[in-house]
Amino acid sequence: MTHDQPAAPRVLTAAGRFSGPRSRAWDVTDRAAKLAAAGADIIQLGIGDPDFDTPAAISEAAVAALQAGRTHYSPFAGEPALREAIARRTSEQHGVEVSPDQVVVFPGAQCALFAIMLCLAEAGDHIILLEPAYTTYDAVAQSGGGRGVRVPLAADNGFQPDVRRVEAAITEKTRAILMNTPGNPSGTVFDAAALQGLVDLCRRHGIWLVSDEVYWSLVYEGRHVSPLALSGGAEVSFVVNSLSKSHAMTGWRLGWTIAPRDLAHHLGDLAQGLLFGVTQFVQDAAVVALTQDLTEVEAMREIFRQRRDALCAGLAAIPGLEIHQPSGGMFLLVDIGDLGCDGEVFANALLDEAGVAVVPGFAFGDSLRHCVRIGFLRDVEVLEEAVRRIAAFVASRATAKG
Ligand code: PMP
Repeated sequence: MTHDQPAAPRVLTAAGRFSGPRSRAWDVTDRAAKLAAAGADIIQLGIGDPDFDTPAAISEAAVAALQAGRTHYSPFAGEPALREAIARRTSEQHGVEVSPDQVVVFPGAQCALFAIMLCLAEAGDHIILLEPAYTTYDAVAQSGGGRGVRVPLAADNGFQPDVRRVEAAITEKTRAILMNTPGNPSGTVFDAAALQGLVDLCRRHGIWLVSDEVYWSLVYEGRHVSPLALSGGAEVSFVVNSLSKSHAMTGWRLGWTIAPRDLAHHLGDLAQGLLFGVTQFVQDAAVVALTQDLTEVEAMREIFRQRRDALCAGLAAIPGLEIHQPSGGMFLLVDIGDLGCDGEVFANALLDEAGVAVVPGFAFGDSLRHCVRIGFLRDVEVLEEAVRRIAAFVASRATAKG
């Protein structure tokens, strides 16, 4: 250091934790958005933002709240009426007692996950991630200085958790297992027995189970089970949920955590320093979402089911593609390994040559490099057009190969 060149202020030790290979996961999606904005004919099956409007009663409640002057600070852990509605809905869903003071409101599940990890893992700590893992989980695991340790789930076991393999990855550094059911990107709905195995493991080893349940409403076969409903689950689980997917409210940014009774106050304290409260009129609308019956939620699920069936049937008929039929969620993994290219090359070429945007598999873990994730995020007719484009693209690559 010289006197005329002062040292730059330091930021990178912390900021570097949030980049890394998976932060490029959305490059194809971003490029697709730019191409579409410039007038190209793009079918966007990348980012999981479905095309439904938020149910009208929820939007009307937000407008009414705005007009009624609900534009002030909220209690840091969330509006009491919303915490109450979340606790009641969760209790009813899982047949367990959840009290409002276990609930802390966050602007979306993503923020809620980040906040939990900030409380659970610091430098030297490990968080077990089940691969395929949602794109942001590495950054989330690193939020407090810890790091994710990956346990691959087997495709031929339908990506169900293998409790023995998870146990083999636990060391004295392990603080938690972070899991997601129904799964993104796999669409796997975890079996109650496997989930009970994870709960038991956490109890035995004194670690936490962080359960991301944002796709709970999108189950086509089987049943969504939360660890909260399992024996001993409530004591070791932090549950994360949101209205983004169940109520087509991605842009509203409304999610929450449910923590063991005596620990929720830590998340409330963190919410104070991080957020100073969540938008009041959005929370008022969320109360309406959570006290309505599930008619609209179930109608959206049935549309997603039709979309899933159409996309899976179309893709399964394309030689060279192996599909993993999802039981839940809004995505499927497609193995393109037989075509001799990796998912990133495939996704970029598919966008350039066929105008279809998908997410390369590396976004979900290195063992998924030969896959892409395709969302059933548009009407059946649009998905059928996407299938025609993908079929022609795959055929042209097969011809080019020889
Ligand atoms: N978890 C998973 C598995 C997701 O797919 C997403 C969004 N794509 C999130 C969390 C974040 O959801 P939210 O919009 O509630 O922040």
